[in-house]
Amino acid sequence: MNSGTGMGETEGRVLHSVAEMEAAMGAEVRGTPRDATGISIDSRSLAPGDTFFAIAGENSDGHAYVSKALEAGASACVVARDKLDQFPADAPLLVVDNVLAALTDLARASRARSLAGIVAVTGSVGKTTTKEALRIALGADGETHASAASYNNHWGVPLSLARLPREARYGVFEIGMNHPGEITPLVKLVRPQVAIVTTVEPVHIAQFSGIDEIADAKAEIFQGLEPGGAVVLNLDNPLFPRLKAAAEALGIDRIVTFGETAGADVRLKEAALQSYCSVGVADVMGTPVTFKVGMPGRHIVQNMLAVLAAAKLVGADLALVGLALSRMKAPPGRGVALRLQVKGGQATLLDESYNANPASMRAALDVLSRTPVGPRGRRIAVLGDMLELGPDGEAHHAELAEAIRTAKIDQVYCCGPQMHALWQALPSERRGGYAIHASHLEPMVASAIRGGDTLMVKGSNGSRMGPLVKSLAERF
Ligand code: ATP
Ligand code: MG
Repeated sequence: MNSGTGMGETEGRVLHSVAEMEAAMGAEVRGTPRDATGISIDSRSLAPGDTFFAIAGENSDGHAYVSKALEAGASACVVARDKLDQFPADAPLLVVDNVLAALTDLARASRARSLAGIVAVTGSVGKTTTKEALRIALGADGETHASAASYNNHWGVPLSLARLPREARYGVFEIGMNHPGEITPLVKLVRPQVAIVTTVEPVHIAQFSGIDEIADAKAEIFQGLEPGGAVVLNLDNPLFPRLKAAAEALGIDRIVTFGETAGADVRLKEAALQSYCSVGVADVMGTPVTFKVGMPGRHIVQNMLAVLAAAKLVGADLALVGLALSRMKAPPGRGVALRLQVKGGQATLLDESYNANPASMRAALDVLSRTPVGPRGRRIAVLGDMLELGPDGEAHHAELAEAIRTAKIDQVYCCGPQMHALWQALPSERRGGYAIHASHLEPMVASAIRGGDTLMVKGSNGSRMGPLVKSLAERF
């Protein structure tokens, strides 16, 4: 969905004509395809008028869903030549050698015809938050297209770029990576005028020799920067000098910094961190901007500084941007506050179950420490394993004991084999309960909650804290 335009205004608008797709992808046309009003790779969410790309994934092959896509109203299906015999002769098809390569070609053509200001966002955490905030912020100033969800990989980036409407004034793309070399081809496709690195933290560290190598992999985002473009870097992050040097080595001289550190080009001057929202005053390269976001936490405010920097660099109206950010709300599993009716009154649950790593854990514990509790209420952390941390995984878990002490968390419930390391590092008065599986921890937590308590539930997606939140919400 595009922000900045009224609902329905863009509906039915041609995204790519058949002739454009034929030319961009070197496709052979079969049957009578119609122009694309959208692009889809999933027949379940396909909107009528979308052209369906039959991508072969790890678990399923899109070619098996071509007939479903046509039933759902696909304008055409892009299929591989060697699978052509699976389809009726009159089906509306665009036939190519390789479907993912064709989607990438179409993405390249979308970019080539676009006059939009393009922003690319990478970083260890905060990419989606920053991207969604830019969608709202820039959307207040002009038609803005942004990647859906966390579509940030070798198919997500081409898909998002192929969806860029020719009329868009701004485009915002999330670029992610799990290993070195992944970002370079993606950013060369996106060719941003502004490239943001939100922060560098030990995330997916199992794939890397250390934090320096992670920083170098993030720095690949500079490789696709348009001539004269700018990079936006976090001055508060210890890896800043390394990123700066990488940008300079490529001859990039527009380096814009953000943070709380003195000398930042976009500097936080004041912040009021509430439990459900955050208010900040920033100096944006000489212009004071006040903003409020409907999400709690210092880390969210830091991401907003990057948003303000990028908005300034693409020429958006900062006053509009500051006001628009108040519409920014927490996405599911990332800081949404739920109310539970429990014995003795109401409890609050901060649902952070979408994912976890040491940086986002600390950020969420900080939010929990600032969240008010009722007269006899306690602050309770319910924590599942942080995955993909490599051989130092247990140490990263145990180290959270210090953050828990600083944040004055009253009770901690842990689950998962790695969280056992934290459990052992906790003093006995903070220990609530431990279980290997989230499903076994849930009843322990349920029987402990009282009116006035505030809980924060967080863990990597694989540690199944999402279902734990769901059962607590159903129970109360
Ligand atoms: P993914 O790699 O899963 O796509 P992402 O980089 O898009 O992640 P977000 O979805 O924005 O990141 O945020 C993920 C988690 O990290 C959330 O719990 C969020 O609160 C936290 N987070 C966001 N920004 C920061 C930050 N700057 N520092 C620490 N934690 C952050
Ligand atoms: Mg993301």
